Amino acid sequence: MDRPVAERVRHELKFRLAEVVRAERITPHMARITFTDPSFAEFPSLSYDDHVKIFISPEGGDPALPVLGPNGVEWPAGAPRPEGRDYTPRSFDKQKRELVIDFVLHEGGLAAEWAAHAKLGDRVGIGGPRGSFVVRNDLDFYVLIGDETALPAIGRRIEELPARTKVEALVEVAEAGERQTFTTKAYLSITWVDRSKGASLINAAKEMALPPGRGYIFIAGEGSTSTALREHFVDQGHDPDLIKAAGYWRRGEADFDDGHAH
Ligand SMILES: Cc1cc2nc3c(=O)[nH]c(=O)nc-3n(C[C@H](O)[C@H](O)[C@H](O)COP(=O)(O)OP(=O)(O)OC[C@H]3O[C@@H](n4cnc5c(N)ncnc54)[C@H](O)[C@@H]3O)c2cc1C
Repeated sequence: MDRPVAERVRHELKFRLAEVVRAERITPHMARITFTDPSFAEFPSLSYDDHVKIFISPEGGDPALPVLGPNGVEWPAGAPRPEGRDYTPRSFDKQKRELVIDFVLHEGGLAAEWAAHAKLGDRVGIGGPRGSFVVRNDLDFYVLIGDETALPAIGRRIEELPARTKVEALVEVAEAGERQTFTTKAYLSITWVDRSKGASLINAAKEMALPPGRGYIFIAGEGSTSTALREHFVDQGHDPDLIKAAGYWRRGEADFDDGHAH
């Protein structure tokens, strides 16, 4: 029998307080924040679309952290509960105990606002990852589609795929200045969809001709766009088991959860 295309690996859930050691602006609207903590001696992140929950105190200062009790996640009584948002481990360096996260700087977001002003020594809570969805690396091709929020996952995947793997990426960004470059041994073809020019991810994806063979399609970004794109590729006859489509945010909704993670 053929090996499964993907495998779910569960991790013990851990919560930690992590400190900012670097805060950079890699493009005008993408902040790259590097966090450290001695507890990063252990940090499981096996897949490009893993996610952690970043806990931020809306009042400023260190957020309260939950503990895992007999009834699941328990918050300390009396302390204000921080807000939690999902983010992708863009990279992790076990030796240096450093976790890198890229934050899209959009209007009106608590986490986006925090990242825009993050400075050395600021601290957030980090929960997870609770699990990893590990996709095989030996299919004929990989298609990666998404907006800026998916760019950390897409960039990580591009960089981690083995040499000579065929990968086609289609990424929607606000404008040309938001494009990123990646170093990879894979055969990468990347198309940027520029919102400022009126281009849409859905139209661009519909114009795509998939490479021949058996390939995996990863889609992430705004929820309704991800759903529409999944339907499109299923309608085109692509095996639904070879598609993962996730809603990473939804217009007008804070801390959107499409249930992908649970
Ligand atoms: C599994 C997973 C991984 C993710 N990885 C990343 C990542 O690595 N980097 C990253 O930047 N985001 C990532 N996201 C998306 C991120 O969690 C959301 O964008 C989140 O809403 C941001 O929180 P916030 O506090 O800034 O905004 P919120 O307080 O949650 O939202 C406030 C308002 O902003 C809107 N909004 C939210 N996101 C955007 C956006 N990108 N553009 C425009 N408007 C928006 C909401 O609709 C709402 O109206 C990921 C999401 C998931 C589910």
